[in-house]
Amino acid sequence: MTLHADYDPDNIFAKIVRGEMPSVKVFEDETALAFMDVFPQSEGHTLIIPKEVQARNFLDMPTERVGAYMERVQTVARAVEKALNPDGVVVTQFNGAPAGQTVFHLHFHVIPRWTDKALSGHASGQMADISNLEAIAAKIRAELG
Ligand code: 5GP
Repeated sequence: MTLHADYDPDNIFAKIVRGEMPSVKVFEDETALAFMDVFPQSEGHTLIIPKEVQARNFLDMPTERVGAYMERVQTVARAVEKALNPDGVVVTQFNGAPAGQTVFHLHFHVIPRWTDKALSGHASGQMADISNLEAIAAKIRAELG
């Protein structure tokens, strides 16, 4: 049962928030942290996670904190779009393993789409080249001012 379970404070995204694991960051404030997905489904695949909250998924997120968090999701999605000029942008998240969730700290995916480019698999395949992710993150950061 992964939809309702105790929050594991040692999940990989909790470690990233605490700085115990590296990430290629594009945005951070007191509410949220955004960083590049290391198994990107497309160029610019970015994750936005809430800080200072133990929410495994969107259903767990305290309602009074959803608004501020979703503002950051939109801010990052807009910056990804401006930085990379895709034809479309997927903004999505999964709740529970049967829904596709693999990391149990709430996160939204921002996945740019181009008309003629297929998506890579979800949370699979080759880990991205970090210097390549750094270059993409720099473009996104530039749009965040
Ligand atoms: P979920 O399957 O839970 O919706 O998404 C988890 C996402 O985290 C996947 O897209 C996967 O590629 C990504 N991911 C897994 N481990 C790491 C990691 O250590 N660092 C980063 N940046 N992304 C990760």
